Amino acid sequence: MMGPKKETQAALFYEFSLEDHVPADHLVRAIDRFIALDAIRSHLAPFYSTIGRPSIDPELMIRMLLVGYVMGIRSERRLCEEVHLNLAYRWFCRLDLTDAVPDHSTFSKNRHGRFRESDLFRQLFEEVLSRCIVEGLVGGSSFGADASLIKADASRYAKVERADWVVPEAVTRATQEYLDTLDDAAFGASTPVEPKALSPADPAARYTGANGDRPFFAYSTNYLVDLDNAVIVDVDATAPIRQAETGIVQDMIVRTRERFDLHPDMLVADTAYGSAPMLGWLVDEQGIDPYIPVIDKSERKDGTFSRDDFTYDPGTDAYTCPGGRQLVQFRRTYTTPRSGVDAEGMMRYRASKKDCDLCPLKPQCCPKEPARKILRSIHEHARDRARDITKTDAYVTASYARKKVEMLFAHLKRILKLDRLRLRGPNGAKDEFLMAATAQNLRRLAKLVPIPA
Ligand code: SF4
Repeated sequence: MMGPKKETQAALFYEFSLEDHVPADHLVRAIDRFIALDAIRSHLAPFYSTIGRPSIDPELMIRMLLVGYVMGIRSERRLCEEVHLNLAYRWFCRLDLTDAVPDHSTFSKNRHGRFRESDLFRQLFEEVLSRCIVEGLVGGSSFGADASLIKADASRYAKVERADWVVPEAVTRATQEYLDTLDDAAFGASTPVEPKALSPADPAARYTGANGDRPFFAYSTNYLVDLDNAVIVDVDATAPIRQAETGIVQDMIVRTRERFDLHPDMLVADTAYGSAPMLGWLVDEQGIDPYIPVIDKSERKDGTFSRDDFTYDPGTDAYTCPGGRQLVQFRRTYTTPRSGVDAEGMMRYRASKKDCDLCPLKPQCCPKEPARKILRSIHEHARDRARDITKTDAYVTASYARKKVEMLFAHLKRILKLDRLRLRGPNGAKDEFLMAATAQNLRRLAKLVPIPA
């Protein structure tokens, strides 16, 4: 028998508890254990006026933003709809069934205003990282570093030539941030080469074809990761330039030590970080073993002797060539001693022209030069240390561990869906990368720390 059609009757009173309707194994319940936002209110208090209409609760805004980043909801408009409709998200945001959800436009006002001025996103990231340390997820001995390109919110079709761009009369927030970062090494001041193309919407974003695809405007997100459990110990935004990415890793290592007293024994990274100054900084100034391939252009492809065929003797500070002759920096004594180091930190060791003229090996050594010359970096001992490490079994193990950093970037783009920024300007990129890294660490905590029975 066909049952009767049920007509919905609006009840006058409900007895409904959100707590009972959020599954025990739901991700928001798992991460909620690690979020303590009590300090947020007092931290933000100086950034609110004491008069006027009360604002939206900042804790609610942060909780909603966390839902967005943890669950990969990139649109703020959709986030508001999801929090409105999803019981688990309402529970996480401490909203009851009848509580109103803030309008999406409220987010941008707070993100570009009070939250940024108060450095709230970094504080939030560091609080979650502190929790990772307390839970024993951070070993602190082996770190990995890498960077990944994230598309900027700027169309590749709306680019202008750098030389043709003039500062507009009405300067947008993104343009002002670009002007403010012109001397910042993280955003290109470390490279003398100016970008050829520029986006009027987000001038600090770099036009790059580094992915081998069609060029686009992008920022780099830079991670410093503890390799024990792939916990992100620091994150920052830079232009997608090697010098900027190398420099920010140094900043992050120093910042992690100052804020959390973490002193890694080793840093694992790819060849992009294998420049002589970077290796010298790690070995000499920080006492960190570089598990990094050395950038080495000394090998010759034309069959003539490479630098490896010459032996360096630190005692005499001279190279010995395959013909048994010495290559030295200076063949005479100067009244004013010279360092012999050029602007790039390189020293030149030269053979005697007389030796080379008489040498039967000259066609294999320096057929087009009067005498052979060898370049040596002032950081060569650090490069040698890195070369020695690459021959060990520990290096092979570390290379596998480095994949954890790459996995975090894959997770960032595929699961958290952060393959294109929604905020413009260097500060927008920083805010988004901080929140995404916070979300990744929260998911790590939720996965590795079991919910007490
Ligand atoms: S050419 Fe000069 S540097 Fe080269 S092997 Fe002969 S003596 Fe040595």
